[in-house]
Amino acid sequence: MERTERLRKSDKKAIWHPFTQMADWEKDDPLIIERGEGNYLFDTEGRKYFDGVSSLWVNLFGHGRKEIDEAVRSQLDRVAHSTFLGLSHPPAIELAEKLLAVSPPGLSRVFYSDNGSTAMEVAIKMAFQYWRQREGGAEGRREFLALSEAYHGDTIGSVSAGGIDLFHKIFRPLLFSVRRLPVPHCYRCPYGLSRPSCSLFCADRMEEEVRARKEVLAATIVEPLVQGAAGMLLMPEGYLARLRAVTRECGVLLVCDEVATGFGRTGTMFACEQEGVSPDIMAVAKGMTGGYLPLAATVTTEEIYRAFLGPYEEFKTFFHGHSYTANPLGCAAAIATLSVFEREDVLPRVSRLAETMAFELKKLSGHRNVGDIRQKGLMAGIEIVADKETRERFPPERKVGQRVIRKVRDRGVILRPLGDVIVLLPPLSSSEEEIEALVHSASWGIDAFLGGGHSSGSGGGHSST
Ligand SMILES: *Cc1c(COP(=O)(O)O)cnc(C)c1O
Repeated sequence: MERTERLRKSDKKAIWHPFTQMADWEKDDPLIIERGEGNYLFDTEGRKYFDGVSSLWVNLFGHGRKEIDEAVRSQLDRVAHSTFLGLSHPPAIELAEKLLAVSPPGLSRVFYSDNGSTAMEVAIKMAFQYWRQREGGAEGRREFLALSEAYHGDTIGSVSAGGIDLFHKIFRPLLFSVRRLPVPHCYRCPYGLSRPSCSLFCADRMEEEVRARKEVLAATIVEPLVQGAAGMLLMPEGYLARLRAVTRECGVLLVCDEVATGFGRTGTMFACEQEGVSPDIMAVAKGMTGGYLPLAATVTTEEIYRAFLGPYEEFKTFFHGHSYTANPLGCAAAIATLSVFEREDVLPRVSRLAETMAFELKKLSGHRNVGDIRQKGLMAGIEIVADKETRERFPPERKVGQRVIRKVRDRGVILRPLGDVIVLLPPLSSSEEEIEALVHSASWGIDAFLGGGHSSGSGGGHSST
C-alpha cells in the first residue's frame, strides 16, 4: 500500500492524463497497473481485473500472448528502430504483404504511421493531394463530407473531420470546414423517424447530398458500421453499401476509418466487408499490433498511388512521415498478430462470443434506465437514460457512466464509459464465461448505482449483432 500511495502521489504531481478531468483525478485513488496476463490486468496491490475494454479497444488476444512477445523480443535482438524515410526493413515489407492479403479487394499500397489519428491525417492529405495531381486534375475537389458525431482522432485534421461537439467544438476556429451528414442513428433518429417505416430516409438524404456536391467533393469519410467514440452508434444495414455506390457513381473517394472496427472486432476482418464495400482509402491502427505497440497504416489503391509518381523536380512526392513510421518492433508485433488470425479460427469464434454477449445483454433491456443496447461483434454499448419513454438523459453532473464503471471496478472489471453509455469491448480471446461475467458485472453496476427496477419492457431496444 505504501508503494502504491507513493506512486499515486508522484503521478498526481507530474502527470496530465488524456481525456481526464484532472481535478477529479487528483481527488481519486487511481489504479496503477503493473502487470498483464491473458485477459487480465493486475494493479500494484496485486488485485486482478478483467480488461473489459481491451485496454481502450486495442488488445485482441490478451496480454503476454506468447507468439507476440517472442516476435517483439526476436526483433529487439536485430534492431529496435531505423528510419523508414529512404530506407526499408524486413518486418515492414512482410507486414505490408500480410495486411494487403486480408484487406478488401482493390487496396494495394500501405502507407505506415504510428496511431489512428495520424492514419486519418494521412488519409485526408492523401485524398486532397490526389485530386490536385491526378491525370486531368480536379482542383475544384476540395471538400470533405463526414457524419455528425464522427470521431477520427485528436490531431487537427482528424478533429476537423470529427463531429463530436464535446471534444471538438472548442477547436472549431482552428479547423477546416467539413460538410456534415446527420448521423444515421436509429435510437435518436435525426429525422424523427423509425424503422422500418422510414425506408432508410437517411440514406436517401445522403445520396442527394453526395450528388449535389459531386463536382467539389474530394472524399466522404466514415467509420464503417459502428461510430465507436460517439457511443457505439450502429449504421443501419444498407447505408454503407449505398454510400459506396453513390460515391463511385459521382467519382468521389470513400475513406473508411477502420481504426476501431478493424481486425476482427465486428466479426469480420474489417467492418466494411459486411456490406461488400471496398473503400478507396482505409485507415487502421488500434488492434493492428494486438494491442502491444503504436503502429498504424493508411491503405490505398494503385490509382491513388500512381497520381503521386513523376519526375523528382515536379515534387509530386507525398511529403508526410513520422520519426517512428513503421517502427520495426510494432511491425513484428503486427505480423505475429495477423499470424494468429491465419492459424486460429478467430472470426467464427468472435461470432460465437458475440451471440453469447447478445443473449446476456438482452436480459438488460427491461431495466427502466436502459434506453438502448447496441452491439456489433464484440463492440457493445449500453445507453443509460433517465426516462425510458422520452429517452431523456441524466444531467452530466450525475456522472452516471463514470459512477457505474467505478462500481464495476470494485468487482474486478475495468471499463471506461462514453458519457452515459457503458462500453463493453472485451478481448477477442475472452471465453464464453468471461463474456457472461462481463455483462453480469455491468448489469450489477447499473443496479448498484440506479437500483434494479425493471419496466414492462416498453421502448427497451436491442440492436443486432
Ligand atoms: C481511436 C480512434 C481513432 C484515433 O486513434 P488513436 O490511435 O487514438 O490516435 C481514430 N478513429 C477511430 C474510429 C477511433 O476509434
